Amino acid sequence: MDFRRPGIERAKGDLFEMSTNEILNRLSETLALRRNADPETSYTAKLLAGAPDSILKKIGEESAELIMAVKDEDPARIACESADLVYHMLALLLSCGMSFDDVTRELALREGISGLAEKKSRGARLDAEGCIFCRIVKGEIPSQRVYEDEEIYAFKDIHPVRPVHILVIPKRHIASLSDVGETDRAVLGRILCEANRLAVENGSPDGFRLIINTGRVGQQEVRHLHAHIIGGTLPLGPMVRGE
Ligand code: AMP
Ligand code: ZN
Repeated sequence: MDFRRPGIERAKGDLFEMSTNEILNRLSETLALRRNADPETSYTAKLLAGAPDSILKKIGEESAELIMAVKDEDPARIACESADLVYHMLALLLSCGMSFDDVTRELALREGISGLAEKKSRGARLDAEGCIFCRIVKGEIPSQRVYEDEEIYAFKDIHPVRPVHILVIPKRHIASLSDVGETDRAVLGRILCEANRLAVENGSPDGFRLIINTGRVGQQEVRHLHAHIIGGTLPLGPMVRGE
């Protein structure tokens, strides 16, 4: 379907000389200014006072109206309903303490990635953003580092269960052993190959146990793949206690 209207001329005037970005920024500024206006006289103030529910309700309504406009093949209404949606989306972002810049950043991150590949990687990327071990790797959360190279990071467990308790993780976010793929072979091999040296150098010269808790049954708590190196000078006892 091609909804372009023949003969439509861009109206002249300041607003039409502005770039899309400028219009969105100006609208965002106007929304921010009206936020503190009197809800009796300002639609925006009233909308933001009831956020997020008031805005979410409107977004639902406007989406339905946009669908109808498309079904009716009515270009003027499609533009109008789309504009309403954009306005309410900006209001929603403002109410969440965000701005259109956050959306632009997200779009920029996707630039050059195919839609399907982006969708596939989105889960991992969003997971990684809130991931405590990714934040440790970035130095945003302190840790007692014992080793690092370009692929893996090793640090002392915050609640050691034995005198030696080290966690070794891939620097790149991998949620668990259930999520590994072909491209993870090298980093997993590196974790295994470094384990003995890390154990010996940190006080477990006579062996150790390597545990990778995985998923619900494995009672994995932190959703960033990690190998526990557990040891010391005394034997560890049974591997898994009976039920
Ligand atoms: P798991 O149950 O296999 O997911 O183990 C997660 C481990 O991460 C536990 O042994 C925690 O003590 C450890 N842990 C959680 N947060 C931190 C942290 N900030 N620094 C070091 N170890 C941590
Ligand atoms: Zn992570």
